[in-house]
Amino acid sequence: MTQAARSPGRGGPETEAAGPDVGPVRVRVAPSPTGPIHVGNMHTAFFNWLFARGRGGAFILRFEDTDLERSDPKFERLIFEEMRWLGLDWDEGPDIGGPYGPYRQSERLPLYEEYARRLVESGHVYPCYCTAEELEAERAEAQRAGVAYKYSGRCRRLGEAERERFETEDRVPALRFAVPGGRVVVIDDLIRGRIEYPTEAISDFIIVRPSGMPLYNFAVVVDDITMRVSHVIRGEGHIPNTPVQCLIYEALGERQPRFGHVGHILLPSREKMAKRAGNAYVGMYREEGFLPEALINFMALLGWTPADGREFLTLREILAEFSLERVTKAPSVFDPEKLTWMNANYIRRLDREELARRCLPFLKKAGLVAESLGEDPPDAAPDPPAGMVRSDFERVVWIVSLEQERIETLKDIVAATEFFFRRDIEPDEAALKMLREAGDILDEALQTYRNHEDWSPTSLEAAGRALVERLGLSGRKVFQPIRAAVTGRVASPPLFDTMAALGRDLCLERMARAVAFTASSSSSRPPPSGADGR
Ligand code: GLU
Repeated sequence: MTQAARSPGRGGPETEAAGPDVGPVRVRVAPSPTGPIHVGNMHTAFFNWLFARGRGGAFILRFEDTDLERSDPKFERLIFEEMRWLGLDWDEGPDIGGPYGPYRQSERLPLYEEYARRLVESGHVYPCYCTAEELEAERAEAQRAGVAYKYSGRCRRLGEAERERFETEDRVPALRFAVPGGRVVVIDDLIRGRIEYPTEAISDFIIVRPSGMPLYNFAVVVDDITMRVSHVIRGEGHIPNTPVQCLIYEALGERQPRFGHVGHILLPSREKMAKRAGNAYVGMYREEGFLPEALINFMALLGWTPADGREFLTLREILAEFSLERVTKAPSVFDPEKLTWMNANYIRRLDREELARRCLPFLKKAGLVAESLGEDPPDAAPDPPAGMVRSDFERVVWIVSLEQERIETLKDIVAATEFFFRRDIEPDEAALKMLREAGDILDEALQTYRNHEDWSPTSLEAAGRALVERLGLSGRKVFQPIRAAVTGRVASPPLFDTMAALGRDLCLERMARAVAFTASSSSSRPPPSGADGR
């Protein structure tokens, strides 16, 4: 559409969009609270925030909630929460107010009425009595003829008598903008450079429905004027709206903001990150255990690169280096695998206590530790949930640090460490197979460790090595069954660290149970192998 609508060299007067003088920097993001916030919207919010913060400007949050059916305060709260989670704050907004409020469109209806009246009085807008059916018929006709639909302009040319007839029929008019013909609207886009739109390509558009509700292109202009917005930075999907909005500014005789349109965000399959796609919601990343600093870093690199091309940047560093000049108009690719890789990197950089604090909500949600763990007093070991081992914060720090190198998301901590918290474990298939084949070895290991008191990793390892020596087997042959017995799986963090963190009682209990299990599944016990030197 953009390319098609560009038509350099067309004659006629040009409408120059905002010049350099747009006053103090005031930018905004205007999501609709009709669902959970989407990565694309958050990305736009983030770039606006960076632009405002980098220039000492104001960042405004307002809601486009004229879709009363679908707008919901619960989604407003989610938007607040998720912006805060990522570290984005705002200077004016529906929750904190500000000098140019209210900040919800549903509370601004008198303002739209006032501006619509101005446009009616100046003759830029006319009442349109066409019914939905009549418009549909026009549209179908255009389709049949294979041409792009454009309103016929029937009501623009209405005579006094016809207008009166419609009024007596009780038809309630919409308000339509009379688009001037033979003109080219020029947008000096901050990211994409010059964009030209011939007005011939723009249909007379509705600004207020018969119900009195303003439409997006009109309401957004009234909001941006009355909130003194200096720069409109948004996704490229809004490029076709921009000339329409420019015409409204012009008709009102108001100063236009500068526009900048950021490229689309695509999935690796090159599909647009559709609103309802599973990986489109910011909240999902929070619930899946992505760190806000990883998501912010990742989002910064969607359409922007720092001068030296490095990939890991803190929010502070991004802020120091961000400029619209380095934002590309090309689409950027949201690669979930790269985000996961980046997240794992960020997890590795956390100090152990911080990692534990971040993992706690996930462990609590999974019911592995007490709800009050880690709250005041921090060293308390509250009663554990049923079936769980008693843990204090220190124990959690120890356990999660054993998995720090392996987990990619905070949520991964649940599956990775469950066996540390559950009193009873269900060994998985691979562990069961290993246990069945190693009854004698486990018996020996149980004897060894029953007589062992010092439960530090080094001492546990010394005892384990002595056992290996005595049995004349490989370390692996001896240690894997022990691992299977105490963790219920065949892969875990280093065995002796794991045993130390599990504690003596739990290890002995699990080894004893494994021995009993191997004894009961006698048929599966293999004959001692000569090669093993027994
Ligand atoms: N509600 C619109 C959106 O989120 C706002 C567009 C604009 O910034 O003008 O896409």
